[in-house]
Amino acid sequence: MSTKLLDRLLFAQGGLCFFCKQALPKSDASVEHLVATSKGGGNNDENRVACCKTLNALLGSMSLKEKFQVMLNQKGSFNCPNRSDGASTAKSVGASPNLVGPPPDRIAKVVANLKQRGTSRPRTVKTLRSTIAAFAKDISEAELNALVDRLQSSGDIVITGQKVSYSL
Ligand SMILES: [Zn+2]
Repeated sequence: MSTKLLDRLLFAQGGLCFFCKQALPKSDASVEHLVATSKGGGNNDENRVACCKTLNALLGSMSLKEKFQVMLNQKGSFNCPNRSDGASTAKSVGASPNLVGPPPDRIAKVVANLKQRGTSRPRTVKTLRSTIAAFAKDISEAELNALVDRLQSSGDIVITGQKVSYSL
């Protein structure tokens, strides 16, 4: 990946992350293809943006539709995962108790794992939690809670009482 490309995109975006509009130091920046090149997306600036690395890791494997879903789920207050833990409290609108969420790659892995299971996904909160715990071995109780919360707030799962349904 050429440094010039990243410089150019950052310049065009006024030095801000394309998605969360926070000041984006080059060390935290990465190039995101809106439509993945593996899905036929172009290797040109029409299709490329600079964004936070953590967000890029989360969006990396998604289709454009899924990316839109993530954006729309933020309901206008987009905070990149892992970027709400530092000094940037400028827009802490609706601060949640889980300010430091689970790492995006872990979320992505859990989502991918659940997708793979097809119709044999866990149907209760209890089995979902033990499934995730078995899959993400070193996960803490707090992180597990945060992860289930995150899946719920992103709309990937819907919890009704003890029952879980999926829209993956
Ligand atoms: Zn960002």
